[in-house]
Amino acid sequence: MSLDRLDKTLFHQGLTIFSEGDGGDCAYIIESGEVEIVHRNSHGEQRLSLLGRGELFGEVALLDQQARTATARTTADTVLIQIDRQLVQELLERSDPILRHLLQVILERFRNHPDQQDAAPVAPHNDRQSDASRRELQGVATQKLSLAHGITRALNHDEFELYYQPICDLANDRVAGFEALIRWHHPTDGLIPPMDFLWLAEQTGQIRQLGLWTLERAARDWPRLRQLTDHEQPFVSVNLSARQLTGDNLVDDVKAIMARHSLAADALKLELTETVMVEQPALAMNILSQLIDLGFQLALDDYGTGYSGLDKLQRYPIGTLKLDRAFVAPMLTSSQSLEIVRSSIELAHTLGMSVVAEGIETKEQRNVLIGLGCDYGQGWLFGKPQPLTV
Ligand code: C2E
Ligand code: CA
Ligand code: CA
Repeated sequence: MSLDRLDKTLFHQGLTIFSEGDGGDCAYIIESGEVEIVHRNSHGEQRLSLLGRGELFGEVALLDQQARTATARTTADTVLIQIDRQLVQELLERSDPILRHLLQVILERFRNHPDQQDAAPVAPHNDRQSDASRRELQGVATQKLSLAHGITRALNHDEFELYYQPICDLANDRVAGFEALIRWHHPTDGLIPPMDFLWLAEQTGQIRQLGLWTLERAARDWPRLRQLTDHEQPFVSVNLSARQLTGDNLVDDVKAIMARHSLAADALKLELTETVMVEQPALAMNILSQLIDLGFQLALDDYGTGYSGLDKLQRYPIGTLKLDRAFVAPMLTSSQSLEIVRSSIELAHTLGMSVVAEGIETKEQRNVLIGLGCDYGQGWLFGKPQPLTV
């Protein structure tokens, strides 16, 4: 993934980043500090804009491959993230609609306002509405690039950690296994939950690298986790995203990780949502069958929130069904949720699958689930996700 090429550079105050007339093969995001964009005309030097943290500049020359028509200079010590042309092209091919739209806006501005081409963000004064929406779009794209850069940096600087949440046998409350849930210890923003960054990692493809990191870490932690379980077939569950399945080498990568850590295949459960089985059924069947042949167990995650019924998914080699918290949480107050939980457990058992109920927070919920024949439970009642070191 080319996001590794997003290098950061410190420019001391008063340095020229590029000058009018230079070739332009990269753009910049200001991570900290300040940059002024100046243009030379018959009256001397004129400042077009003063840009701060999070803003993007130098982008038009990057796209039209012509010379810079403005000079960029730091007015304070400034850290810049550099984005080269090839990276932008690759990101475009990944067809992020916001980014593409942003580029269209920039090109349009370049055509209409050649004087201001390297002076983002400047827009026609007579069009306030579109000015605001352009700024907003630019802000979103810039934030995404910054976050994507942050994810790559986090992988290289070991800022991710796995938290583990127990999954208990409902018959006796014993810990049967753990689900690995990723957390990001951001150096300035603190602990970031997975939902705040995985969506972008999915879009950029970084999820493949992150997914391998997660598998590797869970495999490494398994000997210690295993000691905390009390079951005849203990396991660690790892979430797999749909995009990981469509990568080139998932099966070989998983095999290599297991071999490196001497982890038996039946100790690893891979949790998948139905997305991949619905969107790419043939591919999913091929990869999942290979994983099953190697001895891995598969769990269908978030069951009930997707589009297809279990009957459609039964031809996939799924051993465990995870009932989503959205049905378990309101089960005691909503007869409809209770009915969904009851019939899902029944159907899963008919198909030979075991059932994990997610999001169990109270003893009452646990007791109802036991009454319905549910096999395993996960939720705050049994334990919140915790780092292994605590
Ligand atoms: P998930 O796979 O459905 O994981 C369960 C989520 O429910 C976790 O949120 C967990 O902290 C939360 N949870 C568990 N028990 C309870 C409870 O009793 N009450 C409440 N309110 N919440 C409970 P978390 O850790 O924020 O993870 C969110 C999602 O992010 C996960 O949902 C999973 O889809 C994704 N995710 C997390 N780690 C990874 C990873 O390493 N790889 C991939 N691909 N996805 C991950
Ligand atoms: Ca899961
Ligand atoms: Ca889930």
